[in-house]
Amino acid sequence: MTNPFLTHYQCALCNRVYALDAVTYTCPICGAVGTLDMCYDYAALRRAVRPDQLSALSMWRYAPLLPVSEPAYFPPLHVGWTPLIAAPRLAKSLGLRALWLKDDSRNPTGSLKDRASAMVVARAQQLDVKVITTASTGNAAAALAGMCASVGIKAVIFVPAKAPPAKIAQLLVYGATVLLVDGTYDDAYALSVQASATYNWYCRNTGMNPYTTEGKKTAAFELCEQLAWRAPDVLIVSVGDGNILAGQHKGFHDLHQLGWIDRVPRLIGVQAAGSDNLVRAWESGLAADAMPRGGTETLADSISAGLPSDRAKALRAVRQTNGAFVRVSDAEILAAIPALARGSGIFAEPACAAAYAGLLKALECGIVREGESVALLITGSGLKDIGSAMQSVAGEGGYTIGRDPESMHEAVARLGLPIGAPF
Ligand SMILES: [Zn+2]
Repeated sequence: MTNPFLTHYQCALCNRVYALDAVTYTCPICGAVGTLDMCYDYAALRRAVRPDQLSALSMWRYAPLLPVSEPAYFPPLHVGWTPLIAAPRLAKSLGLRALWLKDDSRNPTGSLKDRASAMVVARAQQLDVKVITTASTGNAAAALAGMCASVGIKAVIFVPAKAPPAKIAQLLVYGATVLLVDGTYDDAYALSVQASATYNWYCRNTGMNPYTTEGKKTAAFELCEQLAWRAPDVLIVSVGDGNILAGQHKGFHDLHQLGWIDRVPRLIGVQAAGSDNLVRAWESGLAADAMPRGGTETLADSISAGLPSDRAKALRAVRQTNGAFVRVSDAEILAAIPALARGSGIFAEPACAAAYAGLLKALECGIVREGESVALLITGSGLKDIGSAMQSVAGEGGYTIGRDPESMHEAVARLGLPIGAPF
């Protein structure tokens, strides 16, 4: 059943309100830029649900706060309730009071996108649809392919042909039908929308499908619960379409409305310099519906988006929380991969390491100040893009030694490796 506390949709751009059975995707008046919020009766929810009643150790822990709340529709893969890891050495070196890493690379297909795909697949099962389609630079597609495989729904996926081969392989392994588009993510997106309308396939597209935001908001729920129902001062999220950022904002908003947290953190969105459309809009005070199409050039393929589909919600998230957008270069993103891994043990893909590069940039610009507490969303595993990982340590290498102990002793001495005490 649909969550009885879910009341209506509201357009993030024009604020028009729609009945739950009146729309499926975006605002009929605003078109694609008018992505929808799913709205709840918070007063009634506050009376009906308490944080100490939550049970499942997955994203479905928050079923009373999600649009589909009936367990029969949930895909069986374990999504969410990912660890929140403290990074005290990094925090100290940066002068922060605390730095937490919300490790969503631990989801079943290796990225935070599993939360959105699980939510969409739950909705698809409720609607009894047979095919789900999406466009993706890789992670959302893998998440959809995996969730569909877990319940036996067909996934048809439009992917830019230049997406990393490992990401495409993951889709094929899950049995999805993959259409490699000779174009950008934006081209793939347009085709998937057309396919959905033409063939009556349920469309998972990020932002366009309001259930994606509802799935992703569970990361913010978990983050706050793992901090004993407190929000950090700042949450930093890398941004392509803006839907993860929007999802976190919605999660904090829900908890704040319920009185489970006492404030919403400042949200900082990080974009790659070659695909920085939201940074530009934020700097120049542009409205979401006035944004021109921008660049898509970055090695961080997961955050390459010329016209971010959830731009209305992403700009609102930053503006309403007194946050900021920052841009980082591809060189800074690459450098962040080993820096984050060596300081915390977390191996992130480029789009995710961008959040760490963005933290460094925000500290440099005074957007984040010393003594603050900061959380980074670890959105995707480094194993997703080994090519970029290899590039990030180019110039480094192992040390070739002979098979004799003398050769080993010589190398240990030459490298200055510490000699331990007996134990
Ligand atoms: Zn609208």
